This record gives sequence, structure tokens and C-alpha cells, in this order.
Amino acid sequence: MAKGKFEVVQTIPSPSIAAGLVERFGRKSYGVVTSFSDSYLGALRTYLGDSTLVDLKPFGEFVRQVHTQLHGSSPRLASSRQVLTAIELACESLPSLSPFSKVGDKAGFHEVVRDALRQFQHWDIGFDSVSDGFTGAKAEALHAIATEVERTLAEASASTASALMKACLDEALDLDGQEARLLIFNRGELHPLALKWLTWLSSQGAEVQLVLDRHATDAPIFRASQVTAEFVNKPKTSPGQGNRLLNNLFTEFETDGPNLELVEIHTVGDPFAEAEWALRRAVALTGTGTGSVTIFARDRDTYLPVLIAASQRMRVPVRLTRRTPLLANGFIKSLLALFDLLESNDVRKLTPLLKTGYLGLAHNSETANLIEQAHLRGGNEWDDLTELVAEMEGAELLAETVAHLRSLRSTIASEQRTALDWHTFVRNSIEQAPWFQTVIQRSHDGRDQRAFTALLAALGQDAVVRHANRPEPIAFATWIKVLKQVLDSGDASVPKPPDGIEVVTSVDEIGLTDYVIALGLLEGAFPRRRSENPILSDDDLAAFPANPPLTNSFDTAAAERDHFYRLCACPSKGLVLSYPQIDGDRDNIAAFYLGEIRKICSNLQEFSHPRRSLLPPPSKCELEPDRTLSTALLSAPKSPPENHIATEPAKEVIRFDKSPIRPRELRAMQKCAFQFLAQRKLPTPHEKGDYWRRLLYVPEMAQLLKAPDPESAATALRAAYQGVLDEIRTKLPAWELDPLEQGAERVFSGLIEREFMSREQWHRDCLTTKIGGRLEDFNPATAYKERLAGVTEANSRRTLHLYRLNAPQKLTTSNREDLLLEFGSMIESAWVGVHEVEIEIESLGDRRTKIIYIPDDSAHPRSTDALTVINLGEGEATRDDLRTTLKGLFLEGLRSACSGKMLPTPGDHCAFCNVSDLCRRSQGASEEEDMF
Ligand code: SF4
Repeated sequence: MAKGKFEVVQTIPSPSIAAGLVERFGRKSYGVVTSFSDSYLGALRTYLGDSTLVDLKPFGEFVRQVHTQLHGSSPRLASSRQVLTAIELACESLPSLSPFSKVGDKAGFHEVVRDALRQFQHWDIGFDSVSDGFTGAKAEALHAIATEVERTLAEASASTASALMKACLDEALDLDGQEARLLIFNRGELHPLALKWLTWLSSQGAEVQLVLDRHATDAPIFRASQVTAEFVNKPKTSPGQGNRLLNNLFTEFETDGPNLELVEIHTVGDPFAEAEWALRRAVALTGTGTGSVTIFARDRDTYLPVLIAASQRMRVPVRLTRRTPLLANGFIKSLLALFDLLESNDVRKLTPLLKTGYLGLAHNSETANLIEQAHLRGGNEWDDLTELVAEMEGAELLAETVAHLRSLRSTIASEQRTALDWHTFVRNSIEQAPWFQTVIQRSHDGRDQRAFTALLAALGQDAVVRHANRPEPIAFATWIKVLKQVLDSGDASVPKPPDGIEVVTSVDEIGLTDYVIALGLLEGAFPRRRSENPILSDDDLAAFPANPPLTNSFDTAAAERDHFYRLCACPSKGLVLSYPQIDGDRDNIAAFYLGEIRKICSNLQEFSHPRRSLLPPPSKCELEPDRTLSTALLSAPKSPPENHIATEPAKEVIRFDKSPIRPRELRAMQKCAFQFLAQRKLPTPHEKGDYWRRLLYVPEMAQLLKAPDPESAATALRAAYQGVLDEIRTKLPAWELDPLEQGAERVFSGLIEREFMSREQWHRDCLTTKIGGRLEDFNPATAYKERLAGVTEANSRRTLHLYRLNAPQKLTTSNREDLLLEFGSMIESAWVGVHEVEIEIESLGDRRTKIIYIPDDSAHPRSTDALTVINLGEGEATRDDLRTTLKGLFLEGLRSACSGKMLPTPGDHCAFCNVSDLCRRSQGASEEEDMF
């Protein structure tokens, strides 16, 4: 066995220096390369190459291997998820006096506890080393949790790398083979226990080389490296020279050095534009777009989606690893809906699952009918549905699925299982489902298979720990909460494509590269702000007898400079830094690091790409998609061709045939022939999911206008609404039904209040009101048609009742014409055989409005908060006056509509136009206007 040694190498954190160290280490035929940080392993793998016998391993795996050599066997390493599950289980029984009793069930708290446990394990100190005051109370609670977590993991035959290291320290080992040589990189972790263990390892004969980061000259950054070097007290070597930037960054004294070839700062409008400019710059720097440029975006949530979108638009491929939440996958969402369904006796809950179409199950009026029938039969709904779909032609898959679900339901109802058995149940029940293979094979890029595998893996890890903690069987209802929890926090990785510009989110992932383009250099993002640990403040941490002292929030904030320095050390040729000026609706503050770069780099170039400057001019565009878009944006807007209908037969199709129209259509006729004719000729857009609109029919169904008192009105409204809800229940998920039910109560109380208030104030006797009716009933020759909620006739006055989403609130010069056209035409049409016609409009907008048309309204009751009166009358206000006014308003529009000309006439009315997406002249979105 070779004589052991422990060598510390402090070096500038440059990939080329690290690659040199790894390459030299890899020349021998045995040994292991590793890092305290797992995310650095990818870069180390590229440095090591394939032509070596030296191994690359995560540090935990290496520790486990040594432990196995020493003890013959080792527990497996607990995953982060398993530790979290063990913490969650330990927190379930927190005493009520525990300082954490109120947050013990929160996932965020479990994560903070996991980090605290990890730190204390790294220092190898117990929480019980402090017992005084509030810190002592928190330490005591954390000690209890840590003890329980350790016990649970031991029961699950799992352990942490720290526990394995501790178990080695007092033992003697004769090392040989790979374990006898170790090259380990420390990227800023302070891990005193690991240092003790490495010292022990070298004392057992291993050659250990520990690589620490250092500044190129004298700046006091890399605290963790300095503390580590002092802690191990080993001779150091310091290879490498810095460039001008690395020599002077974060130092007081100037030191010369070669400049990087290129240093740039780009100020861009927003993150999406920033992503586009970054890709453009990457293509420009590498010529072909496939060279050694790495884009670094620390804020993955903001930048990864926009980088993907920009890469697709610009057709510049990028290589990035993504993790997507499990619940973002349609297949996994469908599985969750399916497991939820198993618990319910109500077969109508099957409808949303059918509607997704994800499982390939048919959903049509026939299946909806069968589901409704099975529900209404009142027996066992699943038995009935199984029977009904079995008889339906062409629904074999649905029939098999319903039978499968019914059999799963009988299993979960009759059995309790352990967490491990529920895990097996999930796998079997899905893999044996009749649609499973089809869904998996159909999925794009194997994404569903990956998500399903990730779900099983996460669930399996969780189940092992739960089973160890509580081996007794649990009911399905309890277990499904676990499933939801795992799904909430679980994610699946999407592998990197083979080609494209490298995109990373951690500095540790940057390998050998010529250029680095770093996005999002903003205060708060890079560097992050200092924030104290929410359960152990800096003062709490200082109370523990730790040597070196435990890392506190100031150390973590100071380590941000280390990360920036590592970033600057990565490129061999050039560094491009950028930040967005605006994020949403707030201005950003650029990172102060940029100020440091300005001071140091004499060759710095700065570029500003304001929001208006979306693209370079066409002559400077290197990418075809950019050139096309830039050319299009700069060219003068072209007028869309005239809507000229050339042939008589075509005109005949378009021409308004003077058939009765709804009064509200007059407004469109007067303002824009295109809107009027398009609305009439095209099918009415399906108001999908607008179930609130159904509320409009409820007062009429409940005969609210004739209700004798508020109590009976409320009862009738609720009963009528139940009918509506029963009708739509199968079409909506439960979470949408709840607000519909609760919101309706509020709407009804307002309706009732205004109904009885208006009767009193406007002197209406409900006995003279008739429910329902049509405008055409009063005058067969009328040109208008309109459905009415009711009509009241008394003292030669006719009141038309309408229910609308909104009612007019006041009369102004700008809305007078609109009101005359819509309501004036109704009054004129119903003004037959009576002296006066008025309209009462009740709305879902908490208002009732009465429209009258009389010469003098001074004797009429005034408007109140809830009741509004609008008088459209002027002068003598006779029916003839009204007819003449109306003719004057829409005659021109009528002529145009009858001629078959379909000319768009833009104006303020475009804001309310429901055919604007077909129109090329819409105000504000016209092809004739400049976008800016
Ligand atoms: S968007 Fe304006 S111009 Fe176009 S059809 Fe509608 S109302 Fe007419």
C-alpha cells in the first residue's frame, strides 16, 4: 500500500486549470475524481474524458464505497426526498408547546429543517449542545426531529453520507485500488466532518488531493476555502495566473494582466428580448452557432422558458436540461383525476377525465347521457354505468376502462395496504389499464413514460421511508393524500438535445468554453440578497459551540462574490453580461458587479437594446427568421384590400334581407356594416364555459316578477338554480361548481332586494305582471324580435322586463344614440294600444335600470343607489318623434347593409366588436397603422 498523503491545491477556479489537474490525475490507472458539489460532476466528466481508468463518482457514493470496504456492507444513501419524508413524519407528532408546532405540517418548513440538519451534520455537532433560552427551545425541538429522522432512516436501511463518514473515523482500514487515490474539488462548501474524514482516509494510506478556490491576487473572498485550508492545516500549492479581470475583481490594489479578448455589457428591454439578444450574440461569436459559447441564466424560472421560445423562433438550437413539475404533464394530471375518481360514488366525476381526451376515451352526447342515466338511477352508479357502456356500440375502450375502474374501486374499498403495497398498486393499476400502452407510445419524445417513471420513483422513495416509520396498513383515503403531496413536489427531467448552444443555470455546470453569456445580472438575483435562516437566526447559530463557526447569512451573502468570480473565471476568450431593464411593470436595478467590471476592463463595450429596438436592421441580421421579421417590421404598413364584393350572387349572400333583427343589432348596423353583416351571417361564437350566463334565466324560471314576498322569492330562485346546476354538473369539475353555487347566493340576494325595492318605489303591482313574452307579440308588423322576461300592464302603461349581464347606468351624450337604438326601438315597437312604454332592466351587475320615454320626468321617482331611471325622451316625446329619430340614426346603415357592401368602419365601437379578429381595420389593431 502506498504511503498516504493529503495535499491541498488552491487554485483560480478556471475550467482550464481544473481540466489540467483532472487530466494529470487521470493518467494513472486507478483513483477517483469527485466533488462536494454534485452539479460540478458534469464538468469533471468532460475533463476526465473516456480514455482513463480513473473513476468519477458523487462524493456520497465514494464515502459509501469506503464504508462498505470497512464494514462489509452499507445502508443505501437517503435521497433528499426521503430525508424530507422522514422530517415530515417526525413533525407530525410535534408537541403543542414546540416552537414549531404551528408550522410543523408545512412543506417549506421541512425544507428549512433539512438544510439545518445537513449543516449540523457537516459540522458534526448536535442540536443539544445549546439548551438556554429560546435558542435552546428551538434546538431541543430540532434535536427531537433529528433523532426521529435518524431512527426512521435507519429503519428504512438508509443513511446519510455524514453518518457513514462518522462511522469510519475510529476504524482502521487497509486501502487499495480506486479508493487509495482521490482528487476532490471543493466549490465553496464548508464541511468540517468531511475534512476530518479525508484526513482519516489519508492516514489509512490514501493519496488525497483537495482542490480549493482562490482569488488570483489578494482579495478576501472564498471564505470557505480559506477556513478549509486552515482547518486541514496542510501544505498548499497555488497553480495558475489570472487575467486582468481576475487579478483586479473585488480587490483594492491594481494588478496588471492580459485582457480577455472581449468584455460586453448589454442592457435589454425585458427577459424575452434579453434571451433573443443572447442567442444572436452567441451565433455571432461562434460563427456557426455550435461553437464553445455557454449561456448562463441563474434564474431558471424566468429564463429557461424564454430561451426555449426564442430558440424556436430564431431556429437556433439550445442544449439545456429542464426539470418540469410532474403536474405539468397531462398524463400525470389524468392519473391523479383517475385516482381521485376511485374514491367517489358519483360517476359524473368521470366526465372531466373523458373530456381531456388524454386517455383516448370517447366523450360525446351519448356517453354524457349514459353517465347521467347511471347517476339518476339511484343504485350503485358504477355497476349501472358498467352495464350501460357495455351495451354502447363503438365504446369498447370506455367499457373496459369503466370495468377496470370498478374493479379498482372494489379493491380500495375492501383493503388497507402498506405504503409499499400502495406503490405497487399504483404501478399495476396504471400499467394494466386498457389505454396505458397507447398513451405511452403516442407521447411526444417519450415524455409521458419519463413522467410516469419519475412518479413511480418518487413514490417508491417516499413509500420506503413511510413503510419503515409506520409499517401498519393504511386506507386508500389516507394514502391518496401522500400521492398528491408527492405529485405536488415531484418533477421529471427532460434530457438535453445532442446539439446546440449550451445553457446552464449553475456556475458549476460551466465547463471549458471560449465565451460565457450571463443573463439576469440584477440586484436580488445575482447577487441574491442576504436573508437569515427562518428557524435558526444568525444569533442562534452563533450560540452553538462550533469550530469553525457555523455559516450564517452574512457568509452566504458574501459567497455570492465567490460565485461571480467563478463565473468570470470560466471563459477563455470573452464575457458578455446582460440584464433586463424592466421586469413586468417595475424597473430593475443592475447588479453592482457590473460597476466593478466597468472599473477594471478597459476594453469593455456597452450596448443598449431598448424595448422598441426589437431586432437589428435587416442588413445586420445574421439569422434568416430575424431578417424576415425585421424587414416586415420596417416596411410601410400596407392597406388591406377593399372589401369589394364583385358578383351579384355573392352580394346576394351578404345583403341584409330586412328580416326582423334584435334591437341591439341596430347599433352594429349604424356603426359598422362589416360587424353587422358578419354577426348575422356567421354562427354565434359558442360561449363555452360561460355558465354564469345561465343565472340570467333563473329569475324568469323562478317567476321572480310575481313572487309575493322575499322569502318565497329566495326559495323559488334556489330551486330553479338547483335545476340549472344539475344540468351543468356533469360538464364541470367540482372546483368550478363551488364558486357558481356560492356566487349565485350573493347574486340572488341582490336580485330579491332590488325586485321588491323597485315594486315599492316604481309602484308596480306584481299581480299585473305576466311572465315571458316576445316583443313581436305587440305588433306583428314589427321589424324587431326580442325575448322578454315578463310584461306588466296597468293604467295604460306597458313595462317590458329584461334580464341582462349589465344595465346602463346613466345617460350621456356619448351613449344616447346607442340607448335610443337598442331600447328606443323596443319602446317604439311595443307602443301599441297603450299611452306609455317603459323598460326595466335587471342585471347581474347589482343594478336595476328603468328606461322611459316621456316629455317631462320631474314627477317620476328619482334614481337611487340600486335603481336608476333614464329618460330618453326629448321635446314632446311622441311615438312618431321616436320613430323619426330612429330612422335618422340607422337609415344610412340600413342602406349600406341592404346594398351588400361590407365595409369596416373603425371607431370606439371596435373595443366591443366580437368579429374584430376577422377584421383588418379594427381600431388599435389595424394593418394600416404602425405597431409603435
Ligand atoms: S373591428 Fe371595428 S371596423 Fe372591424 S368589424 Fe368590428 S367594428 Fe367594424
